[in-house]
Amino acid sequence: MVVNSNLLNIYKQYREKKLAHAYLIETNNPSKLLEDLKTLIKAINCPEEYQEKCLNCNLCNLINKNNLPSLITIEPDGTSIKKGQIEDLKISFETKPIYSKYNTYIIMNAEKLNGSSANAMLKFVEEPTEGILGFFITNNKDVIIPTIKSRCQVLVATYESNNILDKLNITAEELNNYQTIIKDYLNKIKDISLINNKELILSKISERKEIETLFKIIFEIFYHNFLRNIKKDYEQNLTYVYKEENNNKIIKQLNIITKFLQDLSYNVNIELLLDKFVIEMRNIHG
Ligand SMILES: [Zn+2]
Repeated sequence: MVVNSNLLNIYKQYREKKLAHAYLIETNNPSKLLEDLKTLIKAINCPEEYQEKCLNCNLCNLINKNNLPSLITIEPDGTSIKKGQIEDLKISFETKPIYSKYNTYIIMNAEKLNGSSANAMLKFVEEPTEGILGFFITNNKDVIIPTIKSRCQVLVATYESNNILDKLNITAEELNNYQTIIKDYLNKIKDISLINNKELILSKISERKEIETLFKIIFEIFYHNFLRNIKKDYEQNLTYVYKEENNNKIIKQLNIITKFLQDLSYNVNIELLLDKFVIEMRNIHG
């Protein structure tokens, strides 16, 4: 089974009949972890002798389609996980599962449980019912409400990646679109007026989050360039690399990009930031 090695321990516990009723898992890559958890849940519940990509049984097919009634994944509704979401979960799990051995719940962003939803959740972890298995997923186990944390087995599942797609959580196609905008933008940065400069970006994207991603990619492009100059291998799927041979300049440029991203996170007006960025970049070129 190809899953994170710490999750394999859970499978081992299952085989030894030592499965905990709830796990708290800290991870740096929640979407990868969720995929791994589904694999684990298939392996635990599959009525056939589970093999990678079991296509034989109804259960594995239902999990693949996110359609297994006894597997419920809860994500924050807005900024928090609401009490109602937990109440619904409880009602769903009053009946024994049909296709699987366990009723399984997965709470994504478990740090977003608020006072009342955490309270509603406590019953599951305080008085564990036979046949219910729970996973609390978080990026920081230290901020999980202690009453829940203390009743879970705590694991850390770290995924290593140098891949920009993983790092920024975007698809290859999205990266490609961003790079097309960036290429046009950086090539013209010295030559056209501030207004036209902004427009190169703002005519294509306007969400703060998208602009953040765009500038994170710009950072990666300059950083990649820098590493290439100092002759280090650095694996990336960037197709566009900004040509600048002078490392001192690149370091200054990296500082400007970092400052831009910092200001962006402080909610500074985007148009002002874009103007400032262009002016500072031009100053470096002299
Ligand atoms: Zn199966």
